[in-house]
Amino acid sequence: MAAGRPIMPGSTLGMLGGGQLGRMFTVAARTMGYRVLVLDPDPLSPAGAMADEHVHAGYLDTAALDRLAGECDAISTEFENVPAEALARLTRHCIVRPAGEAVAPTQNRLREKAFFDRHGLPTVPWAEVSSPADLKSALAAVGTPSLLKHASGGYDGKGQAPVDSPAAATDAFASLGEAECILERRVTLARELSVIVCRAADGTVACYPPGENVHVDGILSTTALPAAVDAAMAERARAVAAATAEALGYVGVLGVELFVTGDDEILVNELAPRPHNSGHYTLDAAATTQFEQQVRLLCGFTPGPTDLLSPVAMVNLLGDLWNDGDPDWSRVFATPGAYLHLYGKREPRPGRKMGHINVLAMDAATALERARALHAELVGA
Ligand code: AMP
Repeated sequence: MAAGRPIMPGSTLGMLGGGQLGRMFTVAARTMGYRVLVLDPDPLSPAGAMADEHVHAGYLDTAALDRLAGECDAISTEFENVPAEALARLTRHCIVRPAGEAVAPTQNRLREKAFFDRHGLPTVPWAEVSSPADLKSALAAVGTPSLLKHASGGYDGKGQAPVDSPAAATDAFASLGEAECILERRVTLARELSVIVCRAADGTVACYPPGENVHVDGILSTTALPAAVDAAMAERARAVAAATAEALGYVGVLGVELFVTGDDEILVNELAPRPHNSGHYTLDAAATTQFEQQVRLLCGFTPGPTDLLSPVAMVNLLGDLWNDGDPDWSRVFATPGAYLHLYGKREPRPGRKMGHINVLAMDAATALERARALHAELVGA
């Protein structure tokens, strides 16, 4: 299929990965008239349940990959750690967006930070730590307080240890199994923002307004929009996010997580080469959802409008909420402006993302207050 010809509804799309992001992509694609095949080894995968067909196989199963490449007109992914070999094999036969080369820098924190530096994208001071011998020079370069993080495989605050002294650095490195790590300066955060960027194959870029995020224990807890920043800061956030997508030559939906320091400096924290948890508010409060954008961009169309239609707050529902059985969802349905999204996961493990609620209100502060109160009610119920 020629890269320049858009892929029309009625065609078949492939999704590597069967989690909640794949599920919301699948719903959007099928709503728009596409057929969807999901590849995921888990027979109970959230996306597989929504797909026209769920191919139960591993990501390196060559027969399954060849089947996907043979049946699909274009393929996308829902997580950054899809093996590069799988993407390369698919790319030989069909369109894969985002491309493996655009995803590669996001698969390893050291490569990601080196990419930021190479392209003049502002980020925290950092240094590589691959052996105990690296600790001294890394500490000299980065200073304390800092954070030692696994270079790859970590997410949602896992695989990280605080470092407040040279002695703590040795312990932290040991606690992380002396695996390849990155030492990052721990900056004082005035706030955390994220921008969902849509970049089309022809280079057209559309950014959603920045969302304001609150993390608890390293996991996203809430996102609220509009963020409580002035227009100049919002514009700077969008500009740095757009520049990141351009530098990557990225085609698709890219989540760009940003730190705002006490000096109002904007730093790029990390990238998600896919729709992002902080963009789930778009399902109820934006002119186009981030999953429809993923379909549009995968198929070679331009991005839909990214306007915010209402102030909104999103609160994540983690597995901990199920400690005493199913939460009383009637509370959500009794709250005007609240919309429940559950991902169909059977096992509610602590910290596992089971769903989210979007709450629309007259302003972001009210939306956030209502979302938090609703969450607290569900916890207490
Ligand atoms: P990460 O998995 O690297 O995105 O980290 C999860 C969360 O930990 C971030 O969203 C921040 O709240 C916090 N964090 C991570 N790195 C830093 C840093 N270098 N300085 C301050 N806070 C950080």
